[in-house]
Amino acid sequence: MECIFCKIVNQEMEAIKIYENDKAISFLDIAPLSNGHSLVIPKYHASNLFDLPRDYWMAMHTALIATSKAIEKVLGFTNFNFMNNHGKYAGQVVFHYHMHIIPREKNDKLTTTHNRNKITLSKETVAQIQKTALLF
Ligand code: 5GP
Ligand code: ZN
Repeated sequence: MECIFCKIVNQEMEAIKIYENDKAISFLDIAPLSNGHSLVIPKYHASNLFDLPRDYWMAMHTALIATSKAIEKVLGFTNFNFMNNHGKYAGQVVFHYHMHIIPREKNDKLTTTHNRNKITLSKETVAQIQKTALLF
């Protein structure tokens, strides 16, 4: 099996696990952006959110909340970025769906702010997106 996160699920590869339930696991990121940076993964191989069966969503969020609250309580962080990189151009490197839990603090050197643009979508395009969203 190629997928490193499936290997962690199957205990073929080591990880420092924080939390586990029947459908999800969290563990420390091997190259943390901040103290306590963790990943939450489903115990199901889906390369991204679109391919993940819905019954895994709740388990993922249960793991996300338990892990973050534990980090808050033990490490004292009260601010987090909960993040998913979807696709290569969005920064995805491991193609097994995962959420990042990135603890944040005042004046840390991390950044999630970018230059913002004005909305350039026409009313017609927005209407088309709204109508299309109802199909899923
Ligand atoms: P992505 O860029 O795909 O959203 O994030 C992949 C994350 O997985 C990175 O933050 C990277 O440090 C982490 N990672 C990659 N390989 C391993 C590993 O073998 N073990 C652990 N614990 N984390 C890993
Ligand atoms: Zn996998």
